Amino acid sequence: MLCKGDIKEMLSPVTLGSMRFPHRESALETVAACLKAGVSYVDCSPAYCHTSETENSEAWVGEALAGCRDAMLIAAKCSPGNGGLEIGEEYRPHKGFGVRSAAQLRQVMEQSRQRLGVDRFDCYHLWTVHNMAQVKEAYKPGGWMEEARRARAAGMFDHLGITTHADSATIIEFLKTGDFEMITLPYHLLDSTREEAVRWAGEHGIAVLAMNPLAGGLLSGEAESVEAVFGDMGIKSPVELALGFVLSAPGMTSALCGMTSAAQVAENTAAAAQPRWGGAERGEVLRRFKGMGADAGVGVCTGCGYCNPCPQGLDIPRILRSHNACYVLRLGERAVKGYREAAAWGEAYNASRCAACGVCEARCPNSLPVSEMMSRLSRLNTDGQAEPVVSP
Ligand code: SF4
Ligand code: SF4
Repeated sequence: MLCKGDIKEMLSPVTLGSMRFPHRESALETVAACLKAGVSYVDCSPAYCHTSETENSEAWVGEALAGCRDAMLIAAKCSPGNGGLEIGEEYRPHKGFGVRSAAQLRQVMEQSRQRLGVDRFDCYHLWTVHNMAQVKEAYKPGGWMEEARRARAAGMFDHLGITTHADSATIIEFLKTGDFEMITLPYHLLDSTREEAVRWAGEHGIAVLAMNPLAGGLLSGEAESVEAVFGDMGIKSPVELALGFVLSAPGMTSALCGMTSAAQVAENTAAAAQPRWGGAERGEVLRRFKGMGADAGVGVCTGCGYCNPCPQGLDIPRILRSHNACYVLRLGERAVKGYREAAAWGEAYNASRCAACGVCEARCPNSLPVSEMMSRLSRLNTDGQAEPVVSP
């Protein structure tokens, strides 16, 4: 067993998220590669890759770590919610949702312990809580937090964490409880809006793991545009750009990557082994990133969210993340595919629903022509590629 102590010191720059394995073999290959590469932490959940009691990522990670349990920190988690913004009215133990009583938390912890085949975890997270109402639910007498404290005192795990998509101000409120040694939050080049929370956590000795550091896989593979703009800074690929940006954020501890192969482990750990950027280097990268937008004849959406709410119910920053990927970074086919998948998944992510009312444009501090950007993206709904707006 890795020892107790400061969790920040025990986390490697790249850590493993276990939500994306397409099958058992992928999990076994990826965990084996992580062990060789010195990746020190794996983040598990009852819901990830779950199709049955034996086919799920907890069981696969447990199999991969059989005989070498001590080589990685194991984090498990469950939620009083349902993955969204609501309290989880329905208790779904097999996926770890709606866990609202001490007895339910005991049951779900035991389920994870058995699936993983371990005596105990190293970390346990209050999972997917996005607002104060969900956190209050966890803190009610006889609820999630009371039992988590008891389990930790009994030796079931050492470090208590929280995972969230809340905004910076809400996250800081969560952390002010003083209960959490670690936080997992979304953070990447296309959405760095939680920078204040990352900094606050770092200043208060709390470990920060960046969820989605490669923007859901958008910032991967090769892109000539990235090498052309950042090559003289030693940044040759989207992964180097993405992980350099995440790991140089003041307060950041680790990039939690949902890797699925040995090749991805090799690429990500090599990129993370580069020296961390200083403030000047980071500023220069951001300046050039914004310059890419100007050179491309489009602006860069910084994801600040001041434009919300949209009368059509569109998640404007999320949609324009695809615009950044398609037209600023020019990541090609995979960026177009990422947009199309999101648009098909939910109406809030479909740019063709924009009514060009202009409400958001009046609120945008970057004066972005949002309706024009939506129109450009909506042309990708059915066919076509993200052609440059101006000739390169
Ligand atoms: S212009 Fe489009 S995206 Fe902006 S607020 Fe109006 S409908 Fe929403
Ligand atoms: S469109 Fe403008 S206001 Fe909205 S998230 Fe992007 S930069 Fe911020």
